[in-house]
Amino acid sequence: MIHMVTILQRTPGNIHRNSQNCRSKVTSSVINSDAGGEHFLVKGLAMDPTTTKTNYRQVVKLYLNDKGLLPNNPKVFVWCGCPYFKYFCEVALAIRGSSYIINANGALPKITNPTAKPQVCKHCLAFMRKIKAQPELLKSMAVQRVKASATGNRPKDAHLDDLMVNHALAHRRGQVADIGSLGTRTL
Ligand SMILES: [Zn+2]
Repeated sequence: MIHMVTILQRTPGNIHRNSQNCRSKVTSSVINSDAGGEHFLVKGLAMDPTTTKTNYRQVVKLYLNDKGLLPNNPKVFVWCGCPYFKYFCEVALAIRGSSYIINANGALPKITNPTAKPQVCKHCLAFMRKIKAQPELLKSMAVQRVKASATGNRPKDAHLDDLMVNHALAHRRGQVADIGSLGTRTL
């Protein structure tokens, strides 16, 4: 997984400039956990009113350190639904564990990003700035984290992720029957 500053440094200057035109907002923020560890999961919408005026969805995960704190330069997961992200960013980030492959076909972007630089689109830059500009948002997630660990309640998504990971590990150890063989187990 890649650190935020690396992504910011590898993203081309014109994308940084264009990101200044974008408007973005946070639509949800929760404390969550997955195979990469505990993180702040923030979702939002961004659009550039000087171009297509289309609203695109963003997902950003900011990973906490071993002490459960958000470092200045956290490991990040980033995704945006726009075409630029699909053609330039999605696979380059996903091969490093820092994005999903949802819209791209999974092949390395030989023409649009031949060296597979870990970069993001203007919407993600605007969205990450928006998150950073709201310290109260990060604070409320930190409070959620403390409450969740005090009560022993873990987020629903985290539970689901754990189930899937555990299932995959058990499967690898040969402890779980293939889905295909389940049908033959009727007694
Ligand atoms: Zn985008």
